[in-house]
Amino acid sequence: MTLHIPFDNSYARLPGRFFARQNPVGVAAPGALAVNAGLARALGLDPQALAGPEGVAMVAGNLVPEGAEPLAQAYAGHQFGGWNPQLGDGRAMLLGEIVAPAEGPLAGRRFDLQLKGSGPTPFSRRGDGRAWVGPVIREYIVSEAMAALGVPTTRALAAATTGEPVIREGRALPGAVLLRVASSHIRVGTFQFFHARQDLEALQILAEYVRARHFPEARTPRALLDAAVAAQANLIAQWMGLGFIHGVMNTDNMAVSGETIDYGPCAFMDGYHPQTVFSSIDAYGRYAYANQPQIAVWNLAQLATCLLPLWDKPEAEAVEEATASVYAFADLYQQAWLARFRAKLGLVTEEDGDLELIEALLTRMAEGRADFTRSFRGLAEGTARDEFLDRGAYDGWHADWQARLAREPAGAEARLRAANPAIIPRNHRVEEAIAAAVEGDLAPFHALSAALSQPFDVAVDSPFRLAPLEDQRVLRTFCGT
Ligand code: AMP
Ligand code: MG
Repeated sequence: MTLHIPFDNSYARLPGRFFARQNPVGVAAPGALAVNAGLARALGLDPQALAGPEGVAMVAGNLVPEGAEPLAQAYAGHQFGGWNPQLGDGRAMLLGEIVAPAEGPLAGRRFDLQLKGSGPTPFSRRGDGRAWVGPVIREYIVSEAMAALGVPTTRALAAATTGEPVIREGRALPGAVLLRVASSHIRVGTFQFFHARQDLEALQILAEYVRARHFPEARTPRALLDAAVAAQANLIAQWMGLGFIHGVMNTDNMAVSGETIDYGPCAFMDGYHPQTVFSSIDAYGRYAYANQPQIAVWNLAQLATCLLPLWDKPEAEAVEEATASVYAFADLYQQAWLARFRAKLGLVTEEDGDLELIEALLTRMAEGRADFTRSFRGLAEGTARDEFLDRGAYDGWHADWQARLAREPAGAEARLRAANPAIIPRNHRVEEAIAAAVEGDLAPFHALSAALSQPFDVAVDSPFRLAPLEDQRVLRTFCGT
């Protein structure tokens, strides 16, 4: 059961100014927390070795596996719109990359293996480089749920406890480390880091690297930008279709690959309202649910700015093209959003009035804060009406919807079930799992994770379907850094 990971570290072969080499800082007492056996197998790794003493030591940072070349990646970013020229992995380290087996479900794709919470790096500034079990468990549950829901996302491969306390807001909390998998950890902020330094050579190398790794068809800077824009339009539409609020869409938390990354104060809405915000640090609602598409555009405009020096055209023309690429988000997003919500209503054909039909439902939901997940799932199960404060308002909409469905091919119920999950990682459940884990009880974490691995296929009496009671409602989430 020796741990063997066939690393092939392309990022470590980039110029030295892309990162700082840094080994994980070992901890007092590594302990097993979780291993994602399915993902391990898909990556061609042995889940048992990962769960064994060597694997746990690696995740905790006490053992650098053969072939790993640990490094902290450099990046910059706009945080809540404010420019920060120097961020970087302050509590994360890229161990290296592996290429998944060509015949397996991940079809020969390349992935980063990254530790999060593995100790200070040259980019830590005043931070301790650590994480406590709360954010580790939150990211584990939510990122895996997103994957099961079909949303592009980083994944959780394993987690370990450190046996060391982490001090947050005056409290000593148990420390943990997450082993995260991503198509890459290249962010809009990675481009910004070099653009701000007017390092044209590095920008060129980074653009070529991103092209080869994520968008091999993109032959020009414009095509690269188009591809990144399209990936984000699709991603945000998926978030919106699930009631997901990322919470910190800073440019350093937007992966150019189009995967959801950096699960901090993220949350799924229970009761629907477009202006919903959970993050304790988002005082003005910059990253509210309904603002996410606009913020994506704002971030993509920053990416466009960084790519402009690479255009082989006069500046005025380059600016015009880049602007058009970014503006294309609006149409791409609208199409993706309509496709999602049509599917959520069981529609496969397209009619002009569909947008109004969708919006009419959302407006009625917002009025009484109907539960987002239960309302849509209820369309399949015949229980949607119960979620509305004003049932008469729902009944009126229901009649219009039925009339529309009458013009659709048969099989609407199966389509509705496939498009509307019965469960999402509700805040109060995630908090419950964290609270138990702090006390050393991992059963709620494992039970919730197991349920969320099949979110479209859940027994009607599963407790995970229930919306929070008044006193279970979580109104604020924290970065937990
Ligand atoms: P975030 O927005 O939470 O992804 O983090 C923003 C920046 O703060 C990144 O550069 C992180 O690496 C850094 N950071 C967050 N928490 C810590 C920590 N505990 N120690 C060191 N750096 C941190
Ligand atoms: Mg981040």
